[in-house]
Order: sequence, then structure tokens, then C-alpha cells
Amino acid sequence: FNNHVFLKKNLFLDHQHGEQTPKQMIGEALRHRVENIDHEFCEPGDEDTFFVADLGEVYRQHMRWKLNLPRVRPFYAVKCNPDPQVLRLLSELGTGFDCASKAEIDQILGMGVDPSRIIYAQPCKTNSYVRYVSTRNVRQMTFDNADELQKIAKLYPDAELFLRIITDDSASLCRFSLKFGAPLDTTDNLLATARELGLNVVGVSFHVGSGASDPLAFMKAVRDARYVFQRAEAYGYDLTTLDVGGGFCADASFERMAEVLNSALDEYFPPHCGVNIMAEPGRYYVSNAFTIACNIIARRTVDDPSASISGDLVDPSYMVYLNDGVYGNFSSIMFDHQHPVAKVLRCGDKFLFDHESAGPQPAEQEGSLEYSVWGPTCDGIDHITESTRFGHVLDVGDWLYFEEMGAYTKCSATRFNGFSDNHDVIYVCSEAGARLLLGMH
Ligand code: PLP
Repeated sequence: FNNHVFLKKNLFLDHQHGEQTPKQMIGEALRHRVENIDHEFCEPGDEDTFFVADLGEVYRQHMRWKLNLPRVRPFYAVKCNPDPQVLRLLSELGTGFDCASKAEIDQILGMGVDPSRIIYAQPCKTNSYVRYVSTRNVRQMTFDNADELQKIAKLYPDAELFLRIITDDSASLCRFSLKFGAPLDTTDNLLATARELGLNVVGVSFHVGSGASDPLAFMKAVRDARYVFQRAEAYGYDLTTLDVGGGFCADASFERMAEVLNSALDEYFPPHCGVNIMAEPGRYYVSNAFTIACNIIARRTVDDPSASISGDLVDPSYMVYLNDGVYGNFSSIMFDHQHPVAKVLRCGDKFLFDHESAGPQPAEQEGSLEYSVWGPTCDGIDHITESTRFGHVLDVGDWLYFEEMGAYTKCSATRFNGFSDNHDVIYVCSEAGARLLLGMH
């Protein structure tokens, strides 16, 4: 590889360091940034949290998708992480985009993407947004109830509609079926209403819940979708497209999910039936692509009171306070049921990024110390890790890092207590194919 490192938003720095693994590229970007901060004299905020994003990882995920789900065209769910360079790469790779609001639609149209590559996949939409998308020719949208059909008939009768059906999402991290999705016994009425209103229903969509763990949820949802395709014929609709939603994880479960989904598609929507298949993956594309580095802004030493009574020599434990927490980029702990794993990036002068392993750092070594990790706000729930062990005595100014921080993190950060919700992203790109598409030579 040539190593290309974007510094901050639009700048990029071109390192020619010969062959490097993706991990080495990420490590080098982290090191470059933290070693250039003078903790004694820096300006307020210079030691702020920052991300390193490997766009090569997004590219690899796309290739993995094409290999495993060749019939399914991905429409990336922008809400998951609307990072401009990620969107630019996906646009070059030819994906579509699933948008939930006017701002997301504007961001995608602003990149010059054709409106036919957007689906407004929010079954309960804002009136003024529906009027707006009608002027921008964004036709594809979802619905799951009769009131929404009335809205669309009034505001955008030419829209191309996907009937979103309910799924069994009981095995998913984030469940949606309490809020969205038409039960199967209501779909006939909805199709009849759409027909009466003269609307253009073109397909069926579903979402098995974000972070799905049961591949059979896809099997059942595809079978239900087939039922709706057949019923739609009775109302004069010749549906053209099935949208299998999101829910795919980036870990090894993806191949198994894909296998089950493919066999469901082959059974209920075989290639010769001519139905287009699309999906709305979010976390699958970005979760592993982003690493975050956070600075230790304060430390509290916790002495064990029993030790002073017994006179035993017991190591203290520590509470460390970072400059990011659950109101910031660790919002994924609250909203996305995640458990980010803290690792030591820099302790004193020692740079400790682990280039080899994706798993936890060896914590149980002799003499390791117990830490709890907290966020910077004045709220007690701002708590990242209850208990972890490091083989180092960490102090103010040292750095921790967390991997797999790309999905549902920065997009749901707040400015609570006056902390920033917009942190720098340093881009690296560990795939030559992606560098070519992005014009990084
Ligand atoms: N599509 C819709 C309609 C969603 O609501 C979501 C997530 O909220 C997604 C796609 C993306 O889901 P995931 O990140 O699990 O792939």
C-alpha cells in the first residue's frame, strides 16, 4: 500500500511508508495526532476527542456485500453515519441512499447523486418534507398506514410507494416493529385504499431490526413480502421491487445472514421473476471503519478502606474521566446498546496502540490495575465502562482508544454541558481501489 492520510476535514497528507496493514495505518494516524499535542500549553479543545476513519474498510465491506448478496442493491442508511467522505466513497461505488429527513436528502442530492438513487424510507413523514421532495423528484418512499396514504395523495400523488410490513424483530439489538410496519392482516386494506386514491405502489419493504442476530427473521419477512406481492395483484398492482431493509452486522454473522437471505430470495423471488431487490444497510458499512481516541482529563484515586484497617498493601483503583461520553460520541451506549472496549493508546511517553489484535488488550497481566471510565459531563449516568483493567498507571493527559465506533455514534452526539458534538475525523485509506475512486494518488 501507499499510505494516504487525510488530516482534518479536507486536507490530506501523503505518506509513502511502503507496505502497511490497515491497523498500522490507523495506528500511525493516531500517533501523528496525539504526539503533536503539547498537553502543557495547548489551546482549549486541542486535546479533544477525534476519530480515525479507514475508508478502505468501507470499500472492503462493499466488496464483501457484492460477493455475498450479488442480487441485492444496497441503499446505505445515511442516519447511521452521515460522514461526508463515507458518503462520497459510497456514491462513487454506486450505492443508493436511504434517507430519513430533508437534511439527509439535501446532503445526498448536494453530492450530485441522482434522485432515483434515494429512498425516503420513513413511513411517517413530515408534510413539508413530502412537499419538498416532490420538487426535488425524490420519488421512492415507504408507508405503513392509511393516514400516510392520505397525506401522500394530497402532497405527492406521483410518489413511488413501498408498503413496509411488520417483522419479528425479537432477536435484534434495536427493535422497530412496535413503531413501524403494517401487520399482514392490514395490508389488503392498505392496498385497497392506495388503489382508491390512485396511488402508485411499487414494492414492499421491511426491517428486521438493527443489529439482527436471527437469520430466520429474514426468511419469514421475505415469505410475508411474497404474500403481499401476490395480494397486490388483486388490486391491479404489478409490484417491481422488494426492499429487505437493514439489520446486517459487520461481524462474521454477515455471511450466515446473507446465506439465509439468498435462499429465501431464491425460493420466493427467484431471479427469473424479474423483481428488483434492494436493501438499506447502515451499521454493516461503517461500524468497523471508525476508531476514536479520547483524552483523560481527570483522575480520581479510589483507596480501598478495608486495606487501611487491615494494614494490607492493596493497589488503589482509579476513576478516569474522558473528554467524551454518553452525551457525546458514546451515545451508542444509550441508544444502540453497545459496550465499547477501552484500550490504552498513550501512557506518558509510551505509545501502546495494538497493531496486531482486534480483541481486548492483555489486561489480566501481573500487576494490572482496575479502572472505571467516565464521561466529561456533570451527570452520573455519563459512564462508559464500569470496570476494566490496564497494566499501566494512567494519569491526566494520557489517551484511550476504542475501536468499532462508526455506527450510531457521532450522529447522535449532543452538546450537553457545552461540549462539542463535532469532532475531527482523520481519514486513512487502506485500499488502493478506494483511493483511486476518491482521487487520492
Ligand atoms: N432502514 C431504516 C428504515 C432504519 O430505520 C434503519 C435504522 O434505524 C436502517 C435502515 C439501518 O439499519 P442498520 O444500521 O441496522 O443496517
